[in-house]
Amino acid sequence: MKREDFPILKEQVHKRPLVYLDNAATSQKPQAVIDAISEAYCHWNSNIHRGVHHLSQVATMKHEEARKAVAAFIGAKSSDEIIFTKGTTDSLNALAFSFGEACIHEGDEIIVSAVEHHSNIVPWQMLCARKKAVLRHIPLREDKTLDIEAFKGLLNEKTKLVSVAHVSNVLGTINPVEEIIRIAHAGGVPVCIDGAQSVPHMHMDVQALDCDFLAFSGHKMYGPTGIGVLYGKREWLEKLPPHEGGGEMIDHVRWSGTTYNELPFKFEAGTPNFVGSYALHKAIEYIQSIGWEAVEAHERELTAYCEERLAGIEGVHIYAAGIPKAGVISFNVFTDHQSLIHPFDIGTLLDQQGVAARTGHHCAEPLIDDLGVPGTVRVSFGLYNDKSDVDAFIAALERAVQMLS
Ligand code: PMP
Repeated sequence: MKREDFPILKEQVHKRPLVYLDNAATSQKPQAVIDAISEAYCHWNSNIHRGVHHLSQVATMKHEEARKAVAAFIGAKSSDEIIFTKGTTDSLNALAFSFGEACIHEGDEIIVSAVEHHSNIVPWQMLCARKKAVLRHIPLREDKTLDIEAFKGLLNEKTKLVSVAHVSNVLGTINPVEEIIRIAHAGGVPVCIDGAQSVPHMHMDVQALDCDFLAFSGHKMYGPTGIGVLYGKREWLEKLPPHEGGGEMIDHVRWSGTTYNELPFKFEAGTPNFVGSYALHKAIEYIQSIGWEAVEAHERELTAYCEERLAGIEGVHIYAAGIPKAGVISFNVFTDHQSLIHPFDIGTLLDQQGVAARTGHHCAEPLIDDLGVPGTVRVSFGLYNDKSDVDAFIAALERAVQMLS
């Protein structure tokens, strides 16, 4: 698929062709996205919304067109429900502050899950410390899927919000968010989905899913860094206070006090990243030009192929083996005597052979603690990866294991 659209894939690393398998950390960018950034600064860079002059109007139009494209991309009812942020972390922090101010009081409870990235743990911990609230988490079953019966047991009249990852950035497993949302809503509890690892890999429809909030990052879906999205249902966003003060988010400012702008601007203080939103729009168009059906089928097949090849290597332990995954696989390698080859050593030897894989805790320390290891080796795929990448990775891994055993 379309490798030639991504100039970086022609690079060599340590004199070897680059095999980029770190897409869960960030994806590479197609030429159309790279060109969009240059086009913006060469032709219409200007601060948006307040300018009467031509360039400002062009920039404003591009930014608001991008908002509409994002809304359509995730199936939102209205572009007013799309707030541009810096990324998933920023979106979740914004929500934690804003929702916390309006809805969390002493003794209230928030539920996350055992597979969360730190970005969907720490903002809630900070909120809980501020408000004397309690953070709970859905545990894992033996097979490393979420224990939904335990989730039902955690929900009670004190629960004010559930915030869960759609796809685990460590295990690649797809959490049953439809079921979680149904169960939470039956108890009147809203649900936020951390879509950092799902939005780049599967067709999202927030209205069909019925999530109350969705957070995701542009840079993991072939867009630029520094732009992300917080989607919220209008009913919620209207109720919540802004999380930051400054320009654009205001209606009127007087010494006696300030009134706030309407949605979505109430949540966008300061000069927004309008070049980023434009380039993100190009990334969305790029994905749409290939089509979700093709992207999903390709990545599903590639992930299954890689898992099968990995399972054939002696000593490899795949986490959540056999469970369907969205483009991410974590594993460790154990020697004959069941001792762990440190993932960092494997990562270093892979790198020397041109293979970019990630090692460590993947910003999910509680999950890594649960797995009982210091970290894992993680490979993750994008739409441009193919079987030749998997074959190169497997050959490099076999060589690394041989050297380290
Ligand atoms: N949540 C998940 C599930 C992630 O994988 C990541 C990125 N590794 C984040 C949140 C944070 O994303 P960002 O660094 O783009 O804010």
